[in-house]
Amino acid sequence: MFELGGKSVVVTGATKGIGYGIAEVFAKAGANVAVVARTAEEVRRAADALDAVGSGRTLGVCADIGDPESCREMSAGVLAAFDGIDVLCANAGIMPQAPLATMTAAELSSVLRVNLGGTVFVVQACLDALTASGVGRVVLTSSITGPITGYPGWSHYGASKAAQLGFMRTAAIELAPRGITINAILPGNIMTEGLAAMGEEYLAGMTAAIPAGVLGSPADIGHLAAFLATAEAGYITGQAIAVDGGQTLPESPDAVRPR
Ligand code: NAP
Repeated sequence: MFELGGKSVVVTGATKGIGYGIAEVFAKAGANVAVVARTAEEVRRAADALDAVGSGRTLGVCADIGDPESCREMSAGVLAAFDGIDVLCANAGIMPQAPLATMTAAELSSVLRVNLGGTVFVVQACLDALTASGVGRVVLTSSITGPITGYPGWSHYGASKAAQLGFMRTAAIELAPRGITINAILPGNIMTEGLAAMGEEYLAGMTAAIPAGVLGSPADIGHLAAFLATAEAGYITGQAIAVDGGQTLPESPDAVRPR
């Protein structure tokens, strides 16, 4: 059960944070993993690190997911190296903050270009290869922010993460006849460099709001991504699954007060 050895997997935004955690789970399961991001040095470093923990092959590819041509070049590069793409983890995203009162049109379009446009463009670029796989899998990294919750400064970000789900539901119907499933993971607060940069007060407040009592790890997201990529998950499509330690459940802060 749950065999991923030999699968060819593309993970966007895999140089750090959640993307690296996803890539590491697949690498340890014996998959061939392509690390995609914009910064060449970081791509090389992540590919080397994955090479050391995995038994499959690793490949580093520089691409900007917000640019359709760059996505096409990326998928051609992966195909040339791995001879196929079975799994696409469309994970890369940006999370700048901008209060609604002062948000500029440029700030809004930059977030939508990468988080929504980037999701659509990588799926399009990998579509023929995923179809050829016969059991293609797409796993999106959305968020609880937008689809379920809100947070000041992230209205544009939340909108982009909710938009990924709207895209997914129609994509699931269009891709089903090709044997491709597409699902979304909604991470809660996952311990990454970006989250750490929010500061101790933010981290303490978030931890206090989580029934599980701890922040998530990138591997927590990687394990669900890996499951959704298996043959056993083949009848699951178009679904949004929160991985948040119960963070979205309490009706009030009192509900998570220690008793
Ligand atoms: P992160 O640590 O900031 O890493 C982002 C990754 O995406 C990096 O590899 C980055 O590399 C790459 N990237 C950014 N823009 C790109 C572009 N235009 N083209 C290609 N690659 C790009 O982010 P993270 O916190 O792990 O978040 C990853 C995903 O999880 C995002 O979609 C985010 O919305 C979602 N998420 C995160 C959390 C959390 O708690 N951390 C919670 C909910 C959802 P380069 O900059 O070199 O390109």
